[in-house]
Amino acid sequence: MSVPKTIALKNNLPWWTLGGGFLLFQASHLISIQFKVGNGISAVYLPSAIGIVLINWWGPARVVPLMYISSFFASWIWGVQFWYQRLLFPLPETFMLLLSWYLYTYKANGRYWLPNTRSLLLFFLLGILIPATPELLSLHLLYVFTGQNTFDTFWIDFARNCLGEFTSSFGIAIVLLYYLTPVVERWKLTRFDYQVSLKRIGLTPLQWVEVLSIGLVLFVSVFFVDFKRYWFLYGVFSLFVAIRGGFGIAILVNLYIYIITYILPSLFSGFGNIHIRYDQEYIYIFLGIGVLYLFGAVTGRILNDLLGYEKRLKMRNSELEQLNRELDRFVYSVSHDLSAPLKSILGMAHIGKMDFKNTGSNEYFSRIETSVQKAEAFIRDVLDYSRNKRLEVVFKSLSINNLVKEIVDDIKFVEGFDKVQFDFTTLMVNEITTDKIRLKIILNNLLTNAIKYQKTTPGHNSMVTISSFREGSFTKICVADNGEGIPPHLQVKIFEMFYRGHERSKGSGLGLYIAKEAATQMGSTLTVLSEPGKGTQFILTIPHKMENRFQEV
Ligand code: ADP
Repeated sequence: MSVPKTIALKNNLPWWTLGGGFLLFQASHLISIQFKVGNGISAVYLPSAIGIVLINWWGPARVVPLMYISSFFASWIWGVQFWYQRLLFPLPETFMLLLSWYLYTYKANGRYWLPNTRSLLLFFLLGILIPATPELLSLHLLYVFTGQNTFDTFWIDFARNCLGEFTSSFGIAIVLLYYLTPVVERWKLTRFDYQVSLKRIGLTPLQWVEVLSIGLVLFVSVFFVDFKRYWFLYGVFSLFVAIRGGFGIAILVNLYIYIITYILPSLFSGFGNIHIRYDQEYIYIFLGIGVLYLFGAVTGRILNDLLGYEKRLKMRNSELEQLNRELDRFVYSVSHDLSAPLKSILGMAHIGKMDFKNTGSNEYFSRIETSVQKAEAFIRDVLDYSRNKRLEVVFKSLSINNLVKEIVDDIKFVEGFDKVQFDFTTLMVNEITTDKIRLKIILNNLLTNAIKYQKTTPGHNSMVTISSFREGSFTKICVADNGEGIPPHLQVKIFEMFYRGHERSKGSGLGLYIAKEAATQMGSTLTVLSEPGKGTQFILTIPHKMENRFQEV
């Protein structure tokens, strides 16, 4: 079984953390007793929040016994009289703590510095809600069975305790875990070594002014505005801050609201004499605010996550673009450098062929020549591919007629060229605004193929027709041959990379793939119509929109 990363212990804690933890628990009991509203009920109960924080930093072996012993000693503070009760009452919260750690940290491998929405929701569910519910139920049953509370007030007492515990656990524990985990880790006071980065609130000065002024207004409102009517405004503030500044500030503001609306009024009305002691309505209001806190925190966390994803995506994208550019440059320079030595081999082979005319060696030189020509053609294809990828699309006005003549001149040395008759008489459109380099790559490939895939039957009159015409808002350029044609099931495949449909194809299988890519780059489409035995026609459709776009610029 693989051990979850979260329990991989790294360093030993200093000895004083034992005593320090004990004192921290005692202090939290002393504060909580000031908010006692009944037997076993406190409006602000801190030990659970402290326990949840410490168990995540120090692990259960240290914190679970600490919690039990601290609560046992605190039973004097809480006025528990009987020994068996002193031993019994700490059990529910100790069990809650262990269950919280087991479910969230051990089982769900939850990250307690809450780095994403999943962690936050799981923390709320597995770290607080699920473990605290049986704890509070059993605690109140204990109070009823030991005769310290009556069953009549069971549910309302339970609700009060939930409020005290959930709000402090969720309000305080997450702030401490989020902001202090990296600090405590740097001081080597955690048992785990995660290198969590320090948290910054990250508000702009304007956002600070906004948040502080609304915070101030709400602070004053606590004293002058009817809280029972306008309590939801605090929740709205929490949500607003979450949307403006994200998770970090949202949980701080939640804590602030918790202090000014919940803790502060209790202090003003005197310790142990707070309003919720008498008023059930307040319990529901604070439970409502609690839900809004949760919304605020989750909204902030989701926004932070989304921003994070976007940032990472942008970074990955520019890295990939950079890599792509480097790769293209590499392909270009390798292919370019290869063609010079090939040319000299070809030259040598040619001379060799002359020198050894009418000897057996002549045959070998011819073979060398063919192979080198094949390699050269392949390099030309790769260079075309690279050009198409690298070079920006530049729209310029050009003459189709001139371009086709230029290409025909270039491909004179293709095998079978002399047997083909070219027809340019149907070039109805001559002037066109498009990307010259790409149009040349496309037509070059189409014309070369039209020559290469002619019929070999003796007496066949090979014809290649190049035509151009306008059709609606498009200019179409067609290259048609009366060659051997392409079977229907292969007509899609021929545009795939490295696809060669002929045993006698001496090419790389890249030509049509590159032609199609180049057409797409210049906003055009390349399609094929073919009938086996009769011939093939490739149609390049260029939209006028592209031309207009250029003219408007
Ligand atoms: P290559 O010519 O190097 O094999 P291409 O990508 O240019 O690669 O063409 C792919 C395949 O499409 C060719 O192998 C051939 O079978 C078929 N093809 C292309 N053009 C024609 C054409 N004009 N007539 C018949 N077949 C063609």
